[in-house]
Amino acid sequence: MDASTASFPRRPTRRIEVGSVPVGDGAPVTVQSMTTTKTSDVEGTLAQIYALAAAGCDIVRCTCNEAEAAEGLAHIVPRSPVPVIADIHHNHKMALAALDAGVQGLRLNPGNIRRPEHIKTVASEARDRQVPIRIGVNGGSLDPSLYEKYGNTVTPEAMVESALMELDYFAQVDFDLVKISVKASNVPLMVEAYRQLADATDVPLHLGVTEAGPLPEGYIKATAGIATLLAEGIGDTIRYSLTADPVEEARAGRVLLESLGLRERTDIDLIACPSCGRAEVDVIKVAEDARAALAGRDLPLQVAVMGCVVNGPGEARDADLGIAAGRGRGHLFVKGQNVAVVAESEMVEQLVEWAEYISEHGTEAALARVDTAKAAREAEKDRASLLGEQGEDANASAQKVEIIQRHLSG
Ligand code: SF4
Repeated sequence: MDASTASFPRRPTRRIEVGSVPVGDGAPVTVQSMTTTKTSDVEGTLAQIYALAAAGCDIVRCTCNEAEAAEGLAHIVPRSPVPVIADIHHNHKMALAALDAGVQGLRLNPGNIRRPEHIKTVASEARDRQVPIRIGVNGGSLDPSLYEKYGNTVTPEAMVESALMELDYFAQVDFDLVKISVKASNVPLMVEAYRQLADATDVPLHLGVTEAGPLPEGYIKATAGIATLLAEGIGDTIRYSLTADPVEEARAGRVLLESLGLRERTDIDLIACPSCGRAEVDVIKVAEDARAALAGRDLPLQVAVMGCVVNGPGEARDADLGIAAGRGRGHLFVKGQNVAVVAESEMVEQLVEWAEYISEHGTEAALARVDTAKAAREAEKDRASLLGEQGEDANASAQKVEIIQRHLSG
């Protein structure tokens, strides 16, 4: 597998269209998030939707919990840069109102809209308008009859059964523009529910760990569940449910998909070494400065910040561009080849200049504009001098082990 093209194949599914955004059947995996404003606050909600779209959100969800929210949607949907899904709980009339407002999708929770005639009325309306619905099963609000049936506990089987029951109601009115989620805050439960669901149906799946919580734990919990499934080929659209600004949800979703090779990179991917005893620079600071300087410039490149010229260029040879510190200087390299030596104080500035050049003219042109042999000789000089000074054991481990042994035997 070539590192630049590595990815995870998707399981075959049906395809639906949420407005102009395809979901399933080989379409790029999409990022979703949800607004936290009152949907009746049209301008506030639109401002948040624009911020979400700029952060990589492909589809946005807004609550439709009251008449004023449905009226707000009528103004929001035509001005939104991404398709809008109305989130419906308890009152099926809100789903009908949201359809009247022109939303491109609905989310229904089978745990709290349970009357079959209500479900079928909504599905019939959605069918006539060709608007897809997500069956959004949630471990925390499972249908009480299923909860009881499975021993008063939430199980993957109960969640899947809830989704399939809803799917059956939809089928009875000939509606199949569906995607499904079976979210839980417990990661193993959620993973198993999605696996079982993927075996039971070819409907596209929306992944999420519900109530993942504040940062940074929320990132980790959500990633544990979502990434595990994506790597198995399961999942067609994702949402990070974080107790944070929803822009963080969109960013996290985007970064995850790009990291898994499921979406093309649109912005910088900054990699950096963890630093060690060989580091010739404050790697954390330089990496943070580089990220601040490079992010948001639409430079779809991998950029490496490495603490030393001894190992840096080699370890980050796949990066489009990188810098490694040595002897108070920064050694710039492109695809592992040294291209320039700059003052330490200019490292970040130079990274930006080279990143922009590569983005505009390509790697070959960047390599052709300098004497790479000369830069390599400079790098080798610093490398040899640092190796001579630090030796192979830059962290002085052997020396420390000797001291420990002396103490223990004394
Ligand atoms: S050896 Fe160099 S590049 Fe590797 S972690 Fe240490 S400082 Fe960073």
